Amino acid sequence: MQKTKFGRRRVLVTGGAGFLGSHLVDRLLARGDEVLCVDNLFTGDKSNLDHLAGNPLFEFMRHDVCFPLFVEVDAIFNLACPASPIHYQHDPVQTTKTSVHGAINMLGLAKRLKVPIFQASTSEVYGDPTMHPQQESYWGNVNPIGIRSCYDEGKRCAETLFFDYHRQHQLDIKIARIFNTYGPRMHAADGRVVSNFIVQALHGEDITIYGDGSQTRSFCYVDDLISAFVAFMDAGPNVHGPINIGNPAEFTILELAEKILSKVGGASKLVRQPLPQDDPLQRQPDISRAKAQLGWEPTVELDEGLDRTIAYFRRKLEI
Ligand code: NAD
Ligand code: UDP
Ligand code: UDP
Repeated sequence: MQKTKFGRRRVLVTGGAGFLGSHLVDRLLARGDEVLCVDNLFTGDKSNLDHLAGNPLFEFMRHDVCFPLFVEVDAIFNLACPASPIHYQHDPVQTTKTSVHGAINMLGLAKRLKVPIFQASTSEVYGDPTMHPQQESYWGNVNPIGIRSCYDEGKRCAETLFFDYHRQHQLDIKIARIFNTYGPRMHAADGRVVSNFIVQALHGEDITIYGDGSQTRSFCYVDDLISAFVAFMDAGPNVHGPINIGNPAEFTILELAEKILSKVGGASKLVRQPLPQDDPLQRQPDISRAKAQLGWEPTVELDEGLDRTIAYFRRKLEI
């Protein structure tokens, strides 16, 4: 990113009141950028930004990215979109609109301003993958009409729009395919597996394993992910992606549950519940491209990241 004539970059973060967005806002402010956070607070929480009250370099704007936005900035990170299955299935039409109309508006803004634009895409573009681990060259295996499609296809269409604006209007795009990420400021009740298991274990409730727990995910700690976002934006106009961002260490859901239970202790039991429709059986990023093009790889192992996340939820839930 270039510095402005005033010496500071002014960076727009859409979805900045959410889990990932609020960490990104903190990181950008820490390195001296000005930040404009745009969020409609659908799943975001202003308490994630409370500590920034009074910071003259930070501004919050309540706005839905489905509508045009006219502001002046030097770079755009587009993160606005509900991310957990419970949230994105709550109003699936709005989810697709947010991905598609939101992308069009933010791309239109980037085009007018001639500034780089980053898209928070997802490993869900690979669907239930038949290639393992997933490389960026894989086109995916996505059900276009299922209950996850509003999210998966919305994000796929956003990637198409980004590449067409790049080819047609020479936009400097940066598409990150984010794999499961966890850490402080996850929502306690959004149904994602790490937060669910930690909150259940802290309350001494049953730990809900969907299916037989043999499905796998690869979990990235939030601080690592944010380092990759910043490196991607700084990588210059020839690095467009898509680039997988995630931690390749792969665990079964059963292994995750046992790990969390052994860390939290208590009386929780593992109980089985039905596997949701179209739930991917395995997921692991191939991060060769991130290593080569961004010089990035994750550094926080699951054990350490879980300890930090459990400590956060203990404080948040006052347990
Ligand atoms: P989150 O739900 O905590 O944050 C999303 C934010 O976007 C919220 O603050 C929400 O209020 C805001 N938002 C939603 N719709 C909006 C709209 N129409 N206009 C303005 N703001 C809107 O989720 P997150 O985990 O922080 O995810 C951030 C981004 O990263 C999302 O685009 C998500 O798809 C992507 N992603 C996340 C993960 C993950 O593991 N957390 C994995 C893959 C992709
Ligand atoms: N847009 C916006 N802010 C801007 C410029 C454009 O929100 O600063 C929106 C605009 O309303 C339009 C969309 O981005 O709906 C796409 O813009 P583009 O210029 O690509 O398309 P056009 O306006 O020609 O349809
Ligand atoms: N999962 C589970 N119990 C829960 C929540 C999730 O077994 O209480 C499983 C879910 O079926 C999926 C995996 O954990 O196989 C990851 O789910 P999450 O919603 O966190 O992410 P995604 O499916 O979008 O990768």
